[in-house]
Amino acid sequence: MKFQDYNFVPSLKRNLEALGFRKPTDIQYKSIPPILKGEDVLAVAQTGTGKTAAFAIPVIQILSTRKVVEKEYGIRCLIMVPTHELAIQVAGVTQELMKGTGLKVLGLHGGVKQDPQIEQLKKGVDVLVATPGRMFDLASQGFLTFNRVEILILDEADHMLELGFISDMRQLVSRIPKRRQTLFFSATINEHIKELAYGLVRNAVRIQISPKDPVSKNIDHAVAYVEMDDKRFFLEHFIKENPKSKILVFVRTKVRAERVLKAMERVDIKSQTIHGDKLQDERSQVMKNFKDGSNKVLIATDVSARGIDIPNVDFVINYDMPEEPENYVHRVGRTGRGTLKGIAISFCSSEEKETLDIIESFLDKPITVMEINKAEYEATIDFSKGSDHDWKSLMKEQQARKSTKAKVKKKKKK
Ligand code: AMP
Repeated sequence: MKFQDYNFVPSLKRNLEALGFRKPTDIQYKSIPPILKGEDVLAVAQTGTGKTAAFAIPVIQILSTRKVVEKEYGIRCLIMVPTHELAIQVAGVTQELMKGTGLKVLGLHGGVKQDPQIEQLKKGVDVLVATPGRMFDLASQGFLTFNRVEILILDEADHMLELGFISDMRQLVSRIPKRRQTLFFSATINEHIKELAYGLVRNAVRIQISPKDPVSKNIDHAVAYVEMDDKRFFLEHFIKENPKSKILVFVRTKVRAERVLKAMERVDIKSQTIHGDKLQDERSQVMKNFKDGSNKVLIATDVSARGIDIPNVDFVINYDMPEEPENYVHRVGRTGRGTLKGIAISFCSSEEKETLDIIESFLDKPITVMEINKAEYEATIDFSKGSDHDWKSLMKEQQARKSTKAKVKKKKKK
């Protein structure tokens, strides 16, 4: 079924077309009808599946058609998100989908001045996309009330829990009218998340996308065994082999991010970093540069990278293995967005093999291993040190993986 066949208001249909959204993705197909009926929804969908529009589309349809009894203004839909970047992104998508409907959306997050946000709130906002900190700040100053909220949405609820926002969530829910619709979105599900979810939703429709494989099927992902001290050579090698590609590199800590940036600088590779130590303005600028392609290599930590939605990220490189298995799903989910294909490669050192095992049990299947023989491994390091070795590119191997299956074998579970 195409979006044009749905019974949506004309502006919403126009906006979908302008964005190039013709058909609903899996999660959209499953969640739009129950949300339109006013039901609570509990959805497990990984990033990159189109989950933002899965709630934004029906919310816009509901808000632009449902009559408001009183004229007095107030927030009608509250979307809670864990990070600044996600707040900006969700508000942006909602804004695009909302054009011409007369509805207004505001993304509210810390790290920027509050006065312009207060001004906007005073003018009236229908949909508020907020991180907990700034939202409670403004509420305690009397600029925000929740008594008109009809729809409450929790996005990336698993990450909210990880960041310790659970008591904030409970406090918030006690201030929102009981007669409301609640939509709960999470990339992963475990006992803690279920407990939070069932405390919030009522008779929810449960939707699960690819439960057996949390990594989107658009993403080709593999692991390469590279020792800690050699990782920079392999990264250099990879970037130089793919000069036109957008590459998102994940590292464990802020310090590591800056170190990798310096290492790349030494071999004339330009890159930028994004992590929690950067001011919001800097973060926004770095994101803009990566989006418009003026910077092609972005080095990121896990927290800062949540919510990054950049079309055309060609490769995700896990320079360090993620410590939380859920983060593997989030990281590789930054490529292969929507209907695009993506490739993710993880550099795993001997010290990180245990982490890899944990990730594989979380995924419930082994990750394909990119075989690098000793000669290729050494050639990569020699090349990086300035020799003009005629080495084979790791990347070419990965791209040709399907056709040269003999080169790649599945890692056997011990
Ligand atoms: P999300 O999972 O919400 O972060 O969305 C991932 C990407 O998919 C975004 O870049 C969206 O623009 C894109 N997307 C969402 N819905 C559709 C659709 N129906 N058709 C094509 N692309 C979509």
